[in-house]
Amino acid sequence: MNVALVSVGDELLSGDTVNTNAAWLGERLTKRGASVERVTVVPDRVADIARIVNEHAAEYDAVIVTGGLGPTHDDLTMEAVAAAVGQPLERSEKALEWLDENGGYSRSELTKGTADLPAGSRPLHNTVGVAPGCAIENIYVLPGVPAEMQAMFESIADVFEGEPRHVESVTLDEPESALVDRLQELQERFEVKVGSYPGENVRVKIESTDRAAVERAAGWLRENGIVAKTES
Ligand code: ATP
Ligand code: MG
Repeated sequence: MNVALVSVGDELLSGDTVNTNAAWLGERLTKRGASVERVTVVPDRVADIARIVNEHAAEYDAVIVTGGLGPTHDDLTMEAVAAAVGQPLERSEKALEWLDENGGYSRSELTKGTADLPAGSRPLHNTVGVAPGCAIENIYVLPGVPAEMQAMFESIADVFEGEPRHVESVTLDEPESALVDRLQELQERFEVKVGSYPGENVRVKIESTDRAAVERAAGWLRENGIVAKTES
């Protein structure tokens, strides 16, 4: 399953907030066997959010949008998603009922617009905060606050599946340029995906749906390379 992530927020583009939501979702989705193919960061602007959501919904199996929920002036995501799917925004009775019964917020206490969702969407309840998310077509809209986003993702995690991938990393104390031939051989010999990430040492990430292949490949690389002392 191919997934695109759309992170909404001016603060992500200006660097005020680090996009930890995309990193967390990337890790969680990859572990479930889904393949994250895109992460797009867009400003709090309806036209930009709507265009990217519309394009990604057509191109990928699923789109996860985070941020910009709720009723404040810069929370435009629901309006944009509604535009992307050609639906109006409407007050969700289901979301209001849930907030009343489980969230401890009566209708009169909620800021106007809190439970406005694209018509025809399914509300996703916010067990940590207030603003609900929603699911419509292959689009899943989650909050920006990391704890809220994570809890809501768990309620839809089953949607995102594929063959689980196994990963092992080997850290080598050699320059990346010296490893070119061995990394090529590793990939061909064991039919694994190989990523190489230089830093102080080079971290080689070996990945496959076949656990045994990953273990064999990692063993071969350790035997044929200078393993960094820091590797535990
Ligand atoms: P609320 O309903 O509380 O308004 P929200 O869903 O509208 O939440 P935002 O207003 O976009 O979310 O952001 C709320 C908080 O979460 C902000 O502090 C923001 O910086 C943080 N946040 C938003 N997006 C991300 C992200 N991608 N990674 C990490 N933090 C984020
Ligand atoms: Mg907000």
